[in-house]
Amino acid sequence: MSQFRKDVFTGRWVIVAETEVVRTENFHFRKFTRETTFCPFCETHEASTPPEIFAVRPGGSLANGPGWKVRVVPNSQLRLRVEGELRRRPEGFHDLMNGVGADEIVAETPRHDRSLHELEVNEIADVIRTYVARILDLEQDKRIRYVLIFKNHGEEAGAHTITHSISELMALPVTPRLIKAKLMAARDYFALKERCIYCDVLHQELGEQRRLIAENDDFACLAPFASGYPFEAWIIPKAHCSAFSRINAVQIENLARILRDVLQRLEHTLGSPPYNLSLQDRPFLRPREGYWKTIEEDFHWHLEILPQLIGLTGFERASWFFYNPVPPETAARCLSA
Ligand SMILES: [Zn+2]
Ligand SMILES: [Zn+2]
Repeated sequence: MSQFRKDVFTGRWVIVAETEVVRTENFHFRKFTRETTFCPFCETHEASTPPEIFAVRPGGSLANGPGWKVRVVPNSQLRLRVEGELRRRPEGFHDLMNGVGADEIVAETPRHDRSLHELEVNEIADVIRTYVARILDLEQDKRIRYVLIFKNHGEEAGAHTITHSISELMALPVTPRLIKAKLMAARDYFALKERCIYCDVLHQELGEQRRLIAENDDFACLAPFASGYPFEAWIIPKAHCSAFSRINAVQIENLARILRDVLQRLEHTLGSPPYNLSLQDRPFLRPREGYWKTIEEDFHWHLEILPQLIGLTGFERASWFFYNPVPPETAARCLSA
């Protein structure tokens, strides 16, 4: 019989199908084709983007020229602007503020023909170091409360216009709703048990191994108990830490290693699946009245990888229930094999 499973991290319910055997061929995606028309994110095309905000340039090459490993530029289709005041204000019953924030594109490689999982460990580590540098920089801006870093890989995951391997960064004046749901669930658990819910779940999953996909000294990758998406995978640091930007040099290497490993396992098992990757981090600490003090103890940052193998239907959109045809135990078995 299928099961209703409650996600302890968000409170969301998922209907998980009962099936021991999953034919991964049913989910196989063709390798996605990269447009070969002019791409502004390729090396030597630097003049086609707005001036760079940050770049990894090991040889000391000049800004806005070739010779980079990772390059960050403002999104030319700006949804948010760095200039101006927030001006929070009411409009009748409603709340309104100006579209202040930052909207950046991280070109993960100078080469057009490579995806994130095809990069070397040290190249992925450069991408992670870039995320850290951008977060630390944006933390200085007191108007910003949250930096959301995410990636759309493949057209079904939302990469419609840009085929170069990129991640996106949005610096927001408010904490996104899903993160807030996670923060509140973690806070409630901590208030009850004085322990981090992520540490507790990790402890149990590492013991049971049924939903463990991969691990190394610093990170574990799990198929969450109430996965909303088939083959959903979370990468969680083994040592408790609420803020991604506090990651150390050794952890960066190990994160690059496990991320590459898990993306390659997905590729190996499912062909070339479209996926969304996102960093689930805590907001910047901007203490104000009523703000809880235990956030550093109760929240635990992690990466979410959500393969987009089946579209959302009216059921998901209308109810915020999810239906997952692949039990996470089966997904973990396929991916860890
Ligand atoms: Zn390109
Ligand atoms: Zn923890």
